[in-house]
Amino acid sequence: MDHVKSNLKILSAIEKLTIPLNPPVRSFEKSIRSTPLRILISVLLSSRTKDAVTMGASERLFTAADTPEKILSLGEEKISQLIYPVGFFKQKAKNILKIAEYLAETGNEVPSDMDKLISLPGVGRKTANLVRSLAFGIPSISVDIHVFRISKRLGWASGDKPEIVEEELRELFPESSWNNVNQTLVGFGQTICKPVNPSCDLCTISDKCNYFQELNILSEKNDKS
Ligand code: SF4
Repeated sequence: MDHVKSNLKILSAIEKLTIPLNPPVRSFEKSIRSTPLRILISVLLSSRTKDAVTMGASERLFTAADTPEKILSLGEEKISQLIYPVGFFKQKAKNILKIAEYLAETGNEVPSDMDKLISLPGVGRKTANLVRSLAFGIPSISVDIHVFRISKRLGWASGDKPEIVEEELRELFPESSWNNVNQTLVGFGQTICKPVNPSCDLCTISDKCNYFQELNILSEKNDKS
């Protein structure tokens, strides 16, 4: 149980460090927290796209059409225009149309069930976990590139696939904190613990970081040689 407490302490230290920096993930999640449909489509749009671009695309699409039927009536071409310039906008427009079609046929309700969510086009575990967390409050850990990288740096996970890292993180945190793990680590990755040249000099948890310790050992070795 001690390790759980210590992981929660680290998570809270990361939160304290990053909230004042206002990471884009916070305004993004705030902006899409409306209906499960908007959350699902916005999370889908966000893949390989900056949060500010996703927010604009989501706003344009949902101003034009906020129900599966209305999205269906827009058609693929119009959806593409509205969501441009999100990454892979053409493929995403196709997927959005298929999802709208499925929802219109099944009563308009976005499913909260993991298997049903991942059966939708373009929806993998990462998206499904975020939708379950943001739209339904179901304890879930969505592992994106930030969560994956930082979990490895901190020595929280060693798996080479996001689903393995997700399993490892679920073991390290109590269920009540799962929904906080993604937002906290994504915000940390956007502001301090960046993929390249992380700002370790600003980091208050460097004494808990394997990556930082290894860097120090390496530079000590270089100094001696
Ligand atoms: S010390 Fe550097 S690499 Fe480690 S968690 Fe902090 S910012 Fe990330």
